[in-house]
Amino acid sequence: MSDSQRLPHVEGLVSSEIANTIQAPQSSFGNAEAQGLLGVIMEQSPLLMSFMDVQFRYVMASRAVLDYLQLTQDQVIGSSIFTNRPGVERILRPALQKVIETGQPYSAQEVPVPNSSREPENDQELFWNVSYTPVRDTSGKISGVLSIVEDVTERVVQRQRLERIAIQEKQKAAQLEVILSNLSEGIGVIDAEGNIILANPMLDQILGRSMLGQNPYRDGSQALGRRQLDGTPLDNKDTISGRVLKGEFVRDYRFLLKDSQGRDHFLAGNGTPIFDETGRVTGGVLLFHDVTEQESQHRELEEAIQATEESQTALLEVSEAVAGITELEELLDRIVEIVPQVTGCDRVGISLYDPATEMTSQAAVYGLPPEQKAEWKAMPPAQRDRTSPYDEIFFEQHQSLVVDMENLIEEARKQGQELPNPYGVKTMFATPLVYKGEVLGMLSLDHSGRTHNFSPREIRVLEGIARLAAIAIQNVQLLTEANQATTLREANRLKDEFLSLVAHELRNPLTAVQGYTQMTQRRLRKAGIPEADLRPLETIIGQAQRMTRLVEDLLDLSRIETGRLELRHEECDLAGRVNQLIETYQADTGKHRLTLELVSGPDHSLYTGRWDGDRLEQVISNLIGNAIKYSPEGGPVNIQLQRQSLSASGARDRNSEALVVHFSIQDRGIGIPVDQQAALFERFYRANNSRDSGLPGLGLGLYISSQIIRLHGGQMWAESAGEGLGSTFHFVLPLD
Ligand code: ADP
Repeated sequence: MSDSQRLPHVEGLVSSEIANTIQAPQSSFGNAEAQGLLGVIMEQSPLLMSFMDVQFRYVMASRAVLDYLQLTQDQVIGSSIFTNRPGVERILRPALQKVIETGQPYSAQEVPVPNSSREPENDQELFWNVSYTPVRDTSGKISGVLSIVEDVTERVVQRQRLERIAIQEKQKAAQLEVILSNLSEGIGVIDAEGNIILANPMLDQILGRSMLGQNPYRDGSQALGRRQLDGTPLDNKDTISGRVLKGEFVRDYRFLLKDSQGRDHFLAGNGTPIFDETGRVTGGVLLFHDVTEQESQHRELEEAIQATEESQTALLEVSEAVAGITELEELLDRIVEIVPQVTGCDRVGISLYDPATEMTSQAAVYGLPPEQKAEWKAMPPAQRDRTSPYDEIFFEQHQSLVVDMENLIEEARKQGQELPNPYGVKTMFATPLVYKGEVLGMLSLDHSGRTHNFSPREIRVLEGIARLAAIAIQNVQLLTEANQATTLREANRLKDEFLSLVAHELRNPLTAVQGYTQMTQRRLRKAGIPEADLRPLETIIGQAQRMTRLVEDLLDLSRIETGRLELRHEECDLAGRVNQLIETYQADTGKHRLTLELVSGPDHSLYTGRWDGDRLEQVISNLIGNAIKYSPEGGPVNIQLQRQSLSASGARDRNSEALVVHFSIQDRGIGIPVDQQAALFERFYRANNSRDSGLPGLGLGLYISSQIIRLHGGQMWAESAGEGLGSTFHFVLPLD
């Protein structure tokens, strides 16, 4: 081997003995210049370059190898890579072995190798790009392997870190996606121009279309049918996005929106602007809730309350109006007078139908000037027209009609018919007066030549009136022919039917009001609304309870009339019951001072008997309630209980020495006109002064109370020195 074939310039790196045993590749070591270059490369290159013999001992190693092994070249040359770094043997030996056995080069990328350095805390895995090339001696026999290793750990770790971040980001995005798609709020993010750059599925659902890329700020009012709650169009600058883009924070802004099917939705929205570091608005986050259901419940509640008030007034007015009227003409005149008071229409007519002749004749009218009234009544009876499209609806199906008169006249004109419309009716409501499947006539009304939208609620009230009117008409018609006992009985039965109909009509809206109000109250309470704000709901519930009592009164009335009110006698401590009631009533009034005086001594057993305690409570409640109601200025309300003989009690029929408990209640209220005291215990009777002072009432309580006392074998009466002089109510109960 010639000198030139040895490796003088790399002597520092290669042991002379070993260098002598190998032959460098011809191409690389052909001349001194190349050898010099190799020396520089071995010294400078960051690559781990080495030449190993077939036992994998270092013959030559670059500076980077020495650095990696943290050894000097003397320690390295001649030693095996695997003694220095036993950890890498498992991974690299098979590859090296194969190169020597097959003579094929080997290369692999990013091979993970353990870094068993001397400082175990740095034992981080390394990644190498490995390239092994077999080196042959002059005889062609493999004498070693040229190893070039590039440490790519940093690159790999960096890439892995980026990959991990990417995965994490993806997970985060997925999480966000899950959260956004599960929110019950619609969320949208807009850019500085108002374009939606992010929208969750709920937003699309609420707005009824895909919102991504849309610009609700610019095109919302036209495209989305966006309006204010009163129905007027919403100006772009007043929308949530418009205000957010001006840098405003928006809370619970409510507006209307049409969905793609044209249905109105109530939306409540919040908006938060996004600012950049200079304070400029770069976009915003919008959040929407569909509160349609909430709103519609709210409206239904309002409607139910209104409907209750309306039907209450309507039915009570009608029932009052018809009570005691025995003349048909008078009855019809009363009904047509009342309808406008409860429904706000201007003109009402009733016509009667005679099934025998199929003729309808005008019977009563309200709202026309006197001269037209006579003219109207004088109109000849009209023949039923079975060809009319309305005939079947009205006479067979007994349904109400809302007729657009102008339209009707126009249609008739097309058929060559001229329909007269002397009173210039625009929208007419007509409902049949039906009793037991028979049409007795028609109730019709309009708004003096104005068009009117009859709401379902109005129609319900009017139909209720029509039902009552039909019964009353039938009743009066029967009475006029009432010379036979059977007709009279029928007339009485009708009266009861009438009463239970009123009670029934009132019960339904009452249940709705109580139900909705209590539900709303629970919800609001749960949402943390302060009790003070819930007070109006308490009022509604209180009113509904008052109405329920009215309905109960009506039902009691019908029980009394039909002899179905039964008492349950049991031992009853009257003084104890009175005390409890006083407590309850006193809690609700500051103006009145309620007291109980036990005249015959403090022992309750003196005032205890076998009576129906619940019914007596009803009586006493009614008397205390009246004493409070009819003394609006307040004052003392004194109750006395006394055990005495009937003869000493002051009752009207007192010719007996039987023992009674005498209850009396005295107030300093509006009193009772002397001439009206006798009638107080009649059903529906109310004294003039109580009516005039506007205190609510139906005139049933005293009637029912006196009947309960009568059923106990007792008596009830009233005393008052006259108007403004207070009243005292008494009852006595027998004690055996
Ligand atoms: P309501 O109070 O509903 O009208 P009631 O049958 O309880 O019905 O009473 C009938 C009428 O008796 C009342 O309308 C009122 O005119 C009169 N009345 C009852 N209690 C009193 C009272 N304490 N003071 C004055 N008037 C009374």
